[in-house]
Amino acid sequence: MTHLHLARQPLGFFPTPIHELTHLGKLLGGPRIFIKRDDLTGLACGGNKTRKLEYLVGQALAEGADTLITAGAMQSNHCRQTAAAAASLGLECHLVLGGAEPATVNGNLLLDQLLGAKIHWAGDHRKGEDIPMLAEQLRRAGRRPYTVPYGGSTPLGATGFVEALYELDRQTTALGMDFDHLLFASSSGGTQAGLMVGKRLLNKNYQITGIAIDKVGDGQKSLGELILELANATAQFLETAIRLSPAEVQLDEGYAVSGYGEISAGDREAIQLLARHEGILLDPVYTGRAMAGLIDRVRKGCYGRDEKLLFWHTGGAPALFAYASSLGEPATAAH
Ligand SMILES: *Cc1c(COP(=O)(O)O)cnc(C)c1O
Repeated sequence: MTHLHLARQPLGFFPTPIHELTHLGKLLGGPRIFIKRDDLTGLACGGNKTRKLEYLVGQALAEGADTLITAGAMQSNHCRQTAAAAASLGLECHLVLGGAEPATVNGNLLLDQLLGAKIHWAGDHRKGEDIPMLAEQLRRAGRRPYTVPYGGSTPLGATGFVEALYELDRQTTALGMDFDHLLFASSSGGTQAGLMVGKRLLNKNYQITGIAIDKVGDGQKSLGELILELANATAQFLETAIRLSPAEVQLDEGYAVSGYGEISAGDREAIQLLARHEGILLDPVYTGRAMAGLIDRVRKGCYGRDEKLLFWHTGGAPALFAYASSLGEPATAAH
């Protein structure tokens, strides 16, 4: 991809498949819709963090680390994939999770435990504020910790999604077709920033639209500003001359009406439609909402009938099990 020699540790199975969602396309009566299956990256149930971790863990190993630390929400897919990467490489893994230990362990948290991660409950310190202290403790105990950034969203992590656009380009060349629009869930911004840089490097015409999952950025900056900054930092990190402008950040924030992890009627409809008509599991936090956005945008007539859409499935289905109380139907309803 570039002349830089970045240490990349293979963790997943690539390229991830692309196929058409023919039933969904017919149901909506609009453009053809395709899906890229990053839910099938293979790292303990897969997901988009696998691409970022190949570069981040590559650096950790190059630095001689024996321990990975990262942070996230209780149902973080990023934390689960980091725990799996650590396990597969014989590294210790510490996860700093927001909130308090729940009464029952389920979804990603269950998988974190099975993968052998050591879990630290951080209460209100939800974004890894406690990591420096933990890293210091581990160093004093003789370990060599490497901190994987929140959501894997640094220029090095986002490089995984620059590379992903090259992967997509090889696939569309082989298929003899191309897409007009890429849509996906955007949260810590690394996915979108990487795809934007890849698009410019390859001179593609894709409209790249992130569906915002959360209402705001880090408090000072909007998510759009964070994505722009990260995209430009990534372009610089890769020693390209590319500079992106604010107008190039296309972010639809119209679906983050209910908060992080609160399932809206649109989220539920999207999850059920994909499950019942395509046999594909979305997740309750990210891809359910992003697909709800795609469906609504198609219904609103945002796309021409001959355009081709690619929905980038970023994973997350293990979290479904932790949302049984909002997604499940009462057992008696079936009888
Ligand atoms: C982390 C995550 C995202 C968001 O990706 P960012 O690069 O953080 O914007 C989307 N979907 C799933 C399932 C995720 O785990």
